[in-house]
Amino acid sequence: MLAELRGLNEECGVFGIWGHEDAAQISYYGLHALQHRGQEGAGIVTRNGKGLHVVKGEGLVNDVFSGDALKNLTGHAAIGQVRYTTEEGRGAENVQPLVFRSMTGSLAIAHNGNLVNAKDLKESLEKQGSIFQTTSDTEVLAHLIKRSSSGSLTQRDRVKKALSMLKGAFAFVILTEEGLLVAQDPNGLRPLSLGKLGDAWVVASETVAFDLIGAEPIRSVEPGELIVINDKGLHSDQFAEPAERAICSMEYVYFSRPDSDIDGINIHMARKRCGKQLAREVQIEGDVVTGVPDSSISAAIGFSEESGIPYELGLIKNRYVGRTFIQPTQAMRERGVKLKLSPVRQVIEGKRVVMVDDSIVRGTTSRRIVKMLKEAGAKEVHVVIASPPLVSPCFYGVDISTDSELIATNRSVDEVRELIGADSLTFLSAEGMLNAIGRPSDMKNCGQCLACFTGNYPTDIYADTVLPHEKEIGR
Ligand code: SF4
Repeated sequence: MLAELRGLNEECGVFGIWGHEDAAQISYYGLHALQHRGQEGAGIVTRNGKGLHVVKGEGLVNDVFSGDALKNLTGHAAIGQVRYTTEEGRGAENVQPLVFRSMTGSLAIAHNGNLVNAKDLKESLEKQGSIFQTTSDTEVLAHLIKRSSSGSLTQRDRVKKALSMLKGAFAFVILTEEGLLVAQDPNGLRPLSLGKLGDAWVVASETVAFDLIGAEPIRSVEPGELIVINDKGLHSDQFAEPAERAICSMEYVYFSRPDSDIDGINIHMARKRCGKQLAREVQIEGDVVTGVPDSSISAAIGFSEESGIPYELGLIKNRYVGRTFIQPTQAMRERGVKLKLSPVRQVIEGKRVVMVDDSIVRGTTSRRIVKMLKEAGAKEVHVVIASPPLVSPCFYGVDISTDSELIATNRSVDEVRELIGADSLTFLSAEGMLNAIGRPSDMKNCGQCLACFTGNYPTDIYADTVLPHEKEIGR
């Protein structure tokens, strides 16, 4: 479904490259491919022999890098980020990569994820004299690296020491005057892949960025791994022992582009298998299957193939509605559905419609779409969801806010069905989803995080953990 319609947003996407004369240009294309992961801000930092150079700002990649913006980004190494933020958290100072300059060397950091102990660390750093320039949790890492810079530690050891103090979800790309550093949290919560472009090394939140620039995917960055890339080559190290593997399930369900792979599993094919599994878990007498564009189309095709009910284009997305229309209030979200989706009356009228969606957050959008289909003449609307009910907030960088906003928290499936006005409602079972995605079955939960479906978090959650939507507004 459309992210902005329902308050389910990924925090961002990161990109990095080392060893290419067109580092800035390639980063620009890489960020384009990751644009779906964040549309509120974009930035690129390059490194040449004279230091770090930065261009960043609020808006889409195209807006930030219009005209000659890339011209001054010289150097053969770069990192970049596209960013989602809350309405309250907008502000140029929070756009990444964050750049820190000091007598002992400059560094730039781009981060995907959310640190669950950021508040504790920040308080302790402030007591020791640190002054924070942003409200981003990412800045904590820069202060920790600088604090450990005394003595004879190498840069790699300083970064390792700093990373080992962080808890939560983090995929970091860090650019210094000495090298490109890439780190993944011990649970591997957020996706991060390593690839090669000729002799250059590239890293990105999704492999779709490699496709666009013609790079070859090599592997995922491993949990607890710190990769250091410099002119001597690539060096892999561990800053922490790998913990329970827990890649975010919502990457497979919703966030990642269908043409990306995570740990060798293609997202479109995984979603299609989820749709097939759903069709095996429920018997529905329907005339037509339709998916809510875009992220539910793959599951709808799978459901149709398995059930034998023909797939049709029952809902059309208006691709030309600008982001000017996107407002975070409930009232505007409801209005936004009409702006962005339209039913195809000839497909819907007089039919028993099976409407496939990837997930339900607040339920507002589902209710509006069911109503829209009925107004277009649907005889019955059966809603099937290609993931389990969302019942708990995410602390790891996804803006699934408080559980009071989630329609399925403390409600039965039938109560939710009634609220959205559907004739029937079915969710995919957690077991069915894990089997359909097809990750290694010898790992707990097949190595996936299921916390927003179960409330069982793979890391400790600190009492003062700041949720993504609270991050920039204080508490
Ligand atoms: S809680 Fe949900 S959205 Fe957050 S990382 Fe886990 S699976 Fe992903």
